[in-house]
Amino acid sequence: MKILLIDDEVFALKLLIHQLAGLGLREVTPVSGGAEALALIARGGRFDVILSDLQMPGMDGVEFVRALTQSGYDGELVLVSGEDKRILKTAEQLARAHGLRVLGRLRKPVAPERLAEVLAHRADAVASRPRTEGRCYGPDELRQAIAAGELVCHCQPKVSLASGALTGVEILVRWQHPADGLVFPDRFISVAEEHGLIDDLTRAVLRDALRQARLWFDAGHEMHVAVNVSMDNLENLDFPDYVAAAAQEMDVSLSSMVLEVTESRLMKDMRAPLDILARLRLKRVDLSIDDFGTGHSSLAQLRDLPFNELKIDRSFVRGACRDAQLAAICDASLDIARKLGMRSVAEGVEDVDDWNFLRAHGCDIAQGYFIARPMPMAALADWLPEWKRHCIELGLVK
Ligand code: C2E
Ligand code: MG
Ligand code: MG
Repeated sequence: MKILLIDDEVFALKLLIHQLAGLGLREVTPVSGGAEALALIARGGRFDVILSDLQMPGMDGVEFVRALTQSGYDGELVLVSGEDKRILKTAEQLARAHGLRVLGRLRKPVAPERLAEVLAHRADAVASRPRTEGRCYGPDELRQAIAAGELVCHCQPKVSLASGALTGVEILVRWQHPADGLVFPDRFISVAEEHGLIDDLTRAVLRDALRQARLWFDAGHEMHVAVNVSMDNLENLDFPDYVAAAAQEMDVSLSSMVLEVTESRLMKDMRAPLDILARLRLKRVDLSIDDFGTGHSSLAQLRDLPFNELKIDRSFVRGACRDAQLAAICDASLDIARKLGMRSVAEGVEDVDDWNFLRAHGCDIAQGYFIARPMPMAALADWLPEWKRHCIELGLVK
């Protein structure tokens, strides 16, 4: 791993060089400021990770981040600073908004364990790279893919925090692309929404999910099956009737279905969504407000729409046990869910600390890599006994 260190304090540089050496990392280039770093990159210097200070004379860390995005740098970034935690966080957000891959932030004086932890994220970051990069897909390609049945459903378990029991699965669509391999939904859902293909996509997913639900129920797994719907699906007034007919055809009870609603853009006319969501609830379909707290997934929606499940966005969940701000947001969301009589689900539960935090704070259901990564639907039956063993071994449930 080639590392570039930027700090105006000689002592800070020396300390980091020493700590990196302790981790076996010796390909380290120290420089005293952003301008020098950019000059190195411009001359063809290649680095895997840049560790940059924020408070520097001349070019400060924020200016450096801005300039770095234009330099063609394609490695990872770690921000290091003695500044207030919230400034550091904002700088991180800014870097991400510029499209930089931020591994994490470090507070000075840097603790060696934190340094190791942040750099360890690099393996994950590299593994997940193709997801946000790569080409965009056009509407014609996507239309053909839907027609040719190239969309495949994966599923991710949702489990009770109190008992560890499987309470349901969320269905997540992927595109098995003949040339590009498995393509993730962040690269084609918005294309579908913008080009009037989202109804066809949702219907294909829904049918696949219901077909599989029947098999799961027959095998004795009693649970909810959740499908994502976009607000753009809530334009056609016949949507509830479509859902009801498809469920009846597969002999699946509507009360075992959950629809997770996300709104990627602001809805102006709420008449159709109100009509559709009210009718779905009358038919006993559960409605979940997905990514709660972000974008338009807001308090106004909770006030107006008949949701009975609240999914706290993963950006608030991950690491909440170590961050007072996130913990406050999680607590407030859980409180709202409780007071409104809604089921609470935390997404993005990535480790045992996240799990213990949510359990202690009264969240009902957890979903995330700690429990299981999304998997092909047929893999669920093999995962379940493994998870049960895991629960007992780790003493996750009492
Ligand atoms: P979502 O509904 O919020 O789904 C959760 C996303 O978080 C999934 O990404 C899942 O793989 C990811 N995830 C789960 N656990 C963890 C974790 O512990 N850590 C992290 N970092 N991520 C985790 P995915 O499958 O890429 O889906 C992204 C989004 O695409 C979904 O977000 C959903 O909004 C949308 N989507 C997926 N399938 C469909 C679909 O059939 N229809 C529509 N309209 N949207 C869909
Ligand atoms: Mg969802
Ligand atoms: Mg979500």
